Amino acid sequence: MTKKALIIGGGIAGPVTAMALQKAGLEPVVYEAYARGADGVGAFLTLAPNGIEALSLLGLDRLVAGLGMDTRRMRMISGSGKVLADFSNGGETSFGMPSQTLKRADLYGALRDEALRRGIRIEYGKRLADAGMDRGGVRAVFSDGSTATGDLLIGADGLHSRTRKIIDPDAPKARYVGLLNTGGFAKGLSIADEPGTFYMIFGRRCFFGYQVRPNGEVWWFANPGRKVDPTPEQLAAITPQQWRAELNDLFKDDAGPILPIIAATGDIIAGWSTYDFPTVPKWRNERMVIIGDAAHATSPSSGQGASMAAEDAVVLAKCLRDIPDPAKAFQAYEGLRRKRVEKIVAAGKRNGSGKAPGLVGRVVRDLMLPPVMRRLAKSDALRKMYEYPIDWESTVA
Ligand SMILES: Cc1cc2nc3c(=O)[nH]c(=O)nc-3n(C[C@H](O)[C@H](O)[C@H](O)COP(=O)(O)OP(=O)(O)OC[C@H]3O[C@@H](n4cnc5c(N)ncnc54)[C@H](O)[C@@H]3O)c2cc1C
Repeated sequence: MTKKALIIGGGIAGPVTAMALQKAGLEPVVYEAYARGADGVGAFLTLAPNGIEALSLLGLDRLVAGLGMDTRRMRMISGSGKVLADFSNGGETSFGMPSQTLKRADLYGALRDEALRRGIRIEYGKRLADAGMDRGGVRAVFSDGSTATGDLLIGADGLHSRTRKIIDPDAPKARYVGLLNTGGFAKGLSIADEPGTFYMIFGRRCFFGYQVRPNGEVWWFANPGRKVDPTPEQLAAITPQQWRAELNDLFKDDAGPILPIIAATGDIIAGWSTYDFPTVPKWRNERMVIIGDAAHATSPSSGQGASMAAEDAVVLAKCLRDIPDPAKAFQAYEGLRRKRVEKIVAAGKRNGSGKAPGLVGRVVRDLMLPPVMRRLAKSDALRKMYEYPIDWESTVA
């Protein structure tokens, strides 16, 4: 009998998992907390070759190709304008596509539309409140009082996952990494750049990243440091004018086109806090499992959040296709994924730690970064991050 999978969360991991499960012969239904998902919310993210490769197994690579821009290289620059490192951003997929930078809302919308086109049911306004095992299956209870039953439940409900808490009431909270995120889209500028290069400026007081689109639009983000994690209310109280004034002040002594980019931006995106998880001890019980940010949020510095979610989705679908008992399939999935994702989370934390150092840290960083990046580029570590071939045809033992 076809197994019914309740997928909690219709962000990035949710619809990709639904399409992967459909391919694996299961019947997925997606339950998303918000009324129509997160249209227009968020800034932009990168899909690395490993993530695009995973999406290609579901025929989704073409879908993402037209949404954003190629990001072939990364260039790190100090606040004084010195180039600290310049390196390849992961090369290309086996079919020749480099990393793609795209607006999260566009990726989210395209995945949702494609899932619907493939006949997958997505229910909106369904916030998971509780779930329990029920006569050989699982029963989800939503905050509107409605319920759903299935054979298994997959928590793709992001950083503040409810599923994670249901599986393990003692699950750790996400770790605040001491940085906020804000950004925007600047128009009408003419900035000298090398096409396909993402620029990362380690400013004197704040980190700034940007890339110029072929049409001249500049996509950017900044990471103001804050020692203490602000509450959502405190963040919401910061006006766009205050963001602009703070950023202008933070970057006033740095070289490069930062101030003109900020000036040419209409709406600066309201800031949000940055978190990661060093480790989430429990990913699963007999009938429930977590994937994507719910299991292993990486700081945006890794550039791997969405790519990890895509890999998770395909590997989990393979496990459920080949192993009839969900508990054993979840165990196999964790065995295949945990080491890799935790390594990438750790690397993301290391990358982020250079973003808001004091004066001494800044001097050390600017001295050490060039040789460290040269060594890294020659080592196997980057190649291993960007190459994660998944053989859909082979059977999971
Ligand atoms: C609004 C938003 C904006 C983002 N913007 C950026 C960005 O600009 N740059 C970047 O690098 N990353 C961003 N991210 C994170 C990025 O999407 C993830 O790192 C990555 O894509 C992994 O996706 P995910 O599906 O695991 O988690 P998410 O993308 O966070 O999706 C989780 C989904 O679950 C839903 N959900 C949460 N709780 C429940 C519940 N109890 N019941 C039902 N549904 C629930 C959420 O509404 C959301 O749609 C953003 C995430 C969100 C939610």
